[in-house]
Amino acid sequence: MYDVIVVGAGPAGSMAAKKAADAGCKVLLVEKMQLPREKSCSGILIKKSINSVQKEFGKIPHNLPCKTKNKGIIITNEKNKQFKFESEGLNVWRSSFDQWLSSVAEESGVEVRQSTSAISYEEKENHVVVKLQCNGTYYEKAKVLIACDGATSKIKRSLRKDQTNQILTYQTFCRGTIDLDGSFFYAFLDPKFSQYDAWFNVKDDFLVFGVGVKEAALIKDYHSRFLSFLASEFNAKIQSSVRGEIGILPYIMNGYNTDLGEGRVLFAGEAANFLNPMGEGISSALITGAMAAESAVSLFEDNLNIHNLVDLYKNRVADEKEYMIRQWKFLTNLSSRFSYLNSD
Ligand SMILES: Cc1cc2nc3c(=O)[nH]c(=O)nc-3n(C[C@H](O)[C@H](O)[C@H](O)COP(=O)(O)OP(=O)(O)OC[C@H]3O[C@@H](n4cnc5c(N)ncnc54)[C@H](O)[C@@H]3O)c2cc1C
Repeated sequence: MYDVIVVGAGPAGSMAAKKAADAGCKVLLVEKMQLPREKSCSGILIKKSINSVQKEFGKIPHNLPCKTKNKGIIITNEKNKQFKFESEGLNVWRSSFDQWLSSVAEESGVEVRQSTSAISYEEKENHVVVKLQCNGTYYEKAKVLIACDGATSKIKRSLRKDQTNQILTYQTFCRGTIDLDGSFFYAFLDPKFSQYDAWFNVKDDFLVFGVGVKEAALIKDYHSRFLSFLASEFNAKIQSSVRGEIGILPYIMNGYNTDLGEGRVLFAGEAANFLNPMGEGISSALITGAMAAESAVSLFEDNLNIHNLVDLYKNRVADEKEYMIRQWKFLTNLSSRFSYLNSD
């Protein structure tokens, strides 16, 4: 019997697993992929992310960040008005960043099982039974399950049958030139280029062009319209397109509805719908992963009834949720496309 099983070795999962192990828990972290694994992401670590990482995982190894630093974001709204926000950040490849996080968690005593998928779980009176798959299926037990398995969380789907609201992203990594400052992340909100936002940034030697859509069939049309716009407005010249990648984000535009879990199961990171409106989610993944683990630990230490678990977590994440709501309201002031409706 584990104290805690954590599903998913992204930032939320490695943080949750490490925090629980540091507090003396017996922790299993399962990751469906072999690490290092690709994760579609711009890989920008804002100051909030850097602070969380350095506090819990130590100094980020000097060879981990890309050559390109991030100096902030420039948002162009649907009326072609530009807003520039300066803030120093880092840029990482998620494959090596996430592998480093999980290796530090492992050094702290977490048992890490790669190539192992969590399929479903069943809650019993005193524990949860998690069905795992790796060359066949088997079961493990824990007092608490923390689902950090991202936007497509299988654990969440096994609890909430109707969650399908997602944004599909497509970004291409190209060689070429453009008359934009590669140290900024550019977001374009004109609905001609995306059904959410379109973006440009530089990562090592690549120009990265991305779009987010609700309708998968339209993704390449939006992407090529965006490239044509950048060619005419910013002199983008693409010599070669090296690769393209698809990603998924939770779609939380109309209101900000987090889902923290139920019973012995907590959701953290994107599985809980924590995401900044411009698609920045690593900082919240780290913070909510830590808070999910702290909630489980305080439940054990204070010998509390399991019915308190979600409330303990809800209280801990209240500030983070407020922060996200402020971010959404702020974006509404910049663009009428992002209408903030209500919060749960
Ligand atoms: C195109 C794009 C660009 C982005 N750019 C940025 C950015 O620049 N900065 C930023 O802060 N955020 C960015 N984000 C958002 C960021 O990637 C996420 O918010 C963040 O990764 C969420 O972390 P997480 O730990 O919750 O989930 P994830 O990072 O998605 O990790 C989930 C992990 O769970 C594993 N997993 C999934 N299912 C199972 C299962 N059944 N069993 C076991 N393991 C499982 C996955 O393999 C994965 O390793 C971007 C997202 C996209 C799509």
